[in-house]
Amino acid sequence: MHALFDTFQVMQKEQQKLFNERLSMLEENERRKLYKRASMVRKLSQTRRKPQEDENIKRAKSLDEIVFQLLLQEENEAASGPATGHGVVVWLGSKTCQVRSEGNIVDCALSRLQSVAVGDRVSFRPHGDSHAVLAVYPRTTVLSRPDVDNGNVERVIAANVDIVVVVVSVVAPPLHARIIDRYMVAIQRGGAKMLLAVNKTDLLDESTRETELAKLDPYRSCMSMLLCSTTDMTGISDLREMLKGQTCAFVGHSGVGKSSLINAFQPSLSILTGSVSEGYGRGTHTTTASTLHELPCGTRLIDTPGVRSFGLWDIDAKGLAWYFPEFEDFRPNCKFRDCNHTHEPQCGVKQAVVRGDLSQARYDSYLRILTLL
Ligand code: GDP
Ligand code: ZN
Repeated sequence: MHALFDTFQVMQKEQQKLFNERLSMLEENERRKLYKRASMVRKLSQTRRKPQEDENIKRAKSLDEIVFQLLLQEENEAASGPATGHGVVVWLGSKTCQVRSEGNIVDCALSRLQSVAVGDRVSFRPHGDSHAVLAVYPRTTVLSRPDVDNGNVERVIAANVDIVVVVVSVVAPPLHARIIDRYMVAIQRGGAKMLLAVNKTDLLDESTRETELAKLDPYRSCMSMLLCSTTDMTGISDLREMLKGQTCAFVGHSGVGKSSLINAFQPSLSILTGSVSEGYGRGTHTTTASTLHELPCGTRLIDTPGVRSFGLWDIDAKGLAWYFPEFEDFRPNCKFRDCNHTHEPQCGVKQAVVRGDLSQARYDSYLRILTLL
């Protein structure tokens, strides 16, 4: 029999009593099964934990506590009645989320097993002094990446988004076209439309304009693009018009001006912006959690944390070329139907790159992503 309370230092007396009661109601066999499940849950959390969290987890997550959580969860499931409300997840923390429902913000607790993203449509009901999410409705689109700590787990950055606005900047930080290629794959995979917002165009002068904007040439034919600046307000009203009434997520490297763009779009939001640190040309990390803002004009904007890199979720080498739409015209010229456009002879795509009909930079991006899959 498991020693009951010797590892319970952090649990309250009342919880200990409750736990004791619940556990004594179980058969020995059921009890053993529960501890087995708890140790599996603990193993899972240990493979995913970050090193700096070690101390907390050791202190807070004894096996008994996990058993207690499992017991509560089972009770919750058994006792949960019909949903009392529905809404959209507008903010996500580690164990809680906020749901906007009929104009109100409802705080909901999340169980460890619930996978919820900003933009999800959910149902909920009261639970304890908060609410519990009962169901997450099927997503129409997703923007996903692999979890930073465990590449086998999908992290949904935003759900049910109509348009993903990929923000890049020119000059400071300089234009990084590679991240556009990666976002383009992930956005097509998840089913949303894409808009490229090229920000800080006020920083372009005679000497930089041509070289910076030339990096965008390969994209002009395959996506909507908007040159903008939050300093002189170039493109802002076009952006407002293009996104009208839709749900949009703003993504991109930190420091490119995502928050500034959203503020320019809707000044009443006053989202904190960071300054680009001298010497690095990178912005400080200002946005830490995704947030969905509902604007009076009906547009919904999701502000996402800036990223240093963007991994691809659920893309395999065989299918990658499908996400480079401009390759399509030249694919029929490939000798092999299953051509990967790498080492194969008589490859229509490679020939088009040599002739200059396809962008060398985009083809290089394709090869680079392929080696990482
Ligand atoms: P985020 O990390 O992508 O949200 O970027 P921020 O909105 O915090 O902006 C980073 C820095 O770039 C801030 O110092 C902004 O003032 C500056 N910035 C944003 N948009 C523009 C722009 O259009 N032109 C110029 N020159 N600076 C901008
Ligand atoms: Zn080929």
